[in-house]
Amino acid sequence: MKRILDNIVEECRPWTSKGEVASYIPELAKANPDILGIWVTTLGGEEYFAGEYDFKFTIQSISKVVTLMLAILDNGIEYVFSRVGMEPTEASFNSITNLDSHEEKIPLNPMINAGAIAIVSLIHGDTIEEKATRILNFTRKITGNPYISINDSVYESEKKTGDRNRALAYYMKGNGIIEGSVEEILDVYFKACSMEVTSKDIARIGAMLANDGVLLTNERVISREACRIIKTIMVTCGMYDASGKFAVHIGIPAKSGVGGGIMAAVPRRMGIGVVGPALNSKGNSSGGIKILEKLSQELDLSIF
Ligand code: GLU
Repeated sequence: MKRILDNIVEECRPWTSKGEVASYIPELAKANPDILGIWVTTLGGEEYFAGEYDFKFTIQSISKVVTLMLAILDNGIEYVFSRVGMEPTEASFNSITNLDSHEEKIPLNPMINAGAIAIVSLIHGDTIEEKATRILNFTRKITGNPYISINDSVYESEKKTGDRNRALAYYMKGNGIIEGSVEEILDVYFKACSMEVTSKDIARIGAMLANDGVLLTNERVISREACRIIKTIMVTCGMYDASGKFAVHIGIPAKSGVGGGIMAAVPRRMGIGVVGPALNSKGNSSGGIKILEKLSQELDLSIF
């Protein structure tokens, strides 16, 4: 397995130069586009890695899966999906037109920005600090990494430039979809996106999802039913508006983020974390997608 991963990373390196690092959040533009790494955690507990697997990056939209889990734990499946839909979209992740497509004016799904902001508004806690700390502690628990922290420069950078997210949130507030202070909800959302992780951390999250909501320590974190719903939404909505193509060519429930990470869960087999900050035109890691494509072929990982 180690040799397979080493070979695949080297074969995929040329794809890093076909992408560009995200620049709409200025702090992300500083990332090294040549980085490419992978970590695999099998459900038997074996771990394999290759390339720059220990590169630290911000979790960004992969946090949408984490906050969805926590919101479900806090509120139950039924309530959460009365506030956010389950439908994919061909519009971009921060599209405002998405907010008018659902008949009840709820965001289409929890993997687009509007949906994730609505989800964050459901997370319990009396203060912003309490909510952000609950998300951080939950992430530490499901990754098994107590050292995960928030990258303050990325958080500040997002807060300063996040006006599209503000627009989405105020629009939702105007439609009665979210309640309370928009700035406070966004603050928690920006902090969740700015948690700093490695490919190992996200592979561990993938392994828990692959294992129907149970950690490698045998502790159940979320119900089997919640886990099934989340993996299905990852398939239909996890890779932005390239989710259909990803399902056809790779066929693994996955979620990407503009920090360059992709977290993937191969049911009953393994969790995979890949990192490559150079993104393709859809906002997915260019080298990371290629790695998953080759690995899926090599190990026959497609669920379809
Ligand atoms: N924090 C980013 C934003 O809200 C997340 C984007 C992403 O990774 O898709 O714009």
